[in-house]
Amino acid sequence: MSRILVARVVVGSLFLFGCWIAYTQNRGGAPAALTINKVKDDLYEIEGDGGNVAVYITSEGVILVDDKYDRDFDNIMAKVKSVTSQPVKYILSTHHHEDHSGGNSKFLPAGAEIISTAQARSNIVEHKQSNASPGMVGARVVFTQETAVFLGGKEVRARYFGRGHTNGDAMVYFPALRTIHTGDLMAGSTPLIDYPGGGSLAEWAKTLDEAMKWDFDTVIPGHGPVTTKANLLTYRNNVEKLRIRAAGLIREGKSQEDVGKVMQAEFGWTPTSLQMQWSLPGMMAELK
Ligand SMILES: [Zn+2]
Repeated sequence: MSRILVARVVVGSLFLFGCWIAYTQNRGGAPAALTINKVKDDLYEIEGDGGNVAVYITSEGVILVDDKYDRDFDNIMAKVKSVTSQPVKYILSTHHHEDHSGGNSKFLPAGAEIISTAQARSNIVEHKQSNASPGMVGARVVFTQETAVFLGGKEVRARYFGRGHTNGDAMVYFPALRTIHTGDLMAGSTPLIDYPGGGSLAEWAKTLDEAMKWDFDTVIPGHGPVTTKANLLTYRNNVEKLRIRAAGLIREGKSQEDVGKVMQAEFGWTPTSLQMQWSLPGMMAELK
């Protein structure tokens, strides 16, 4: 290979790496260290290397929300064992992305039952995430609107409120603890609309409005630290502000490049982000 070609391959690899790292951190390589934090009584969350995992302990087993990448299985199990000797019985999946559902391939054979929306399962089976590993495994039990798990006298609900990040995002509710897990309907500081995965910026705020009707005060987002219902509302309002701004520009006839520049300047998108790859072309079509 010529030196120039080698340089191009390296730059190209760095570009792809940069896109993913911007959102999920540490794509490839050894499993990253994880941290576990107490949220409320019997509820913990595990951060690091992919989406936040909720850990709900009951007297008959543990219920998780999401399971990161398959490479994180041992580290997740070690963190769970640091707070309980109960086995993991159920995993409620928020959506099909590998940084939230990649661990299914390890947890299913280990004896956990995995539950997701029917759409999230289809998105895995149809490999809708272009940069996901080929060996991903979908949930074995699915629902379309709402489901609940009752274990050890405790209840966890999962509900599909509408499109947003993808077309199959579930949000999860721990009613006794007035806490929810949003999946990537709240993640980071700015929304990633996965249009190839059926996402919708036009619907996103409406979807969050429905979820806000649950009675809760604490929010485990898909990525980032545990936060409050008030901050979820702020996030929702920022999504709506972004939609209105982008729709205005698109209706003025601005080019995709120009809309991208405004998203960079006003909403913190970076040139190599997944927002630029997955969200911008779809927004141009959806909002015109
Ligand atoms: Zn996601």
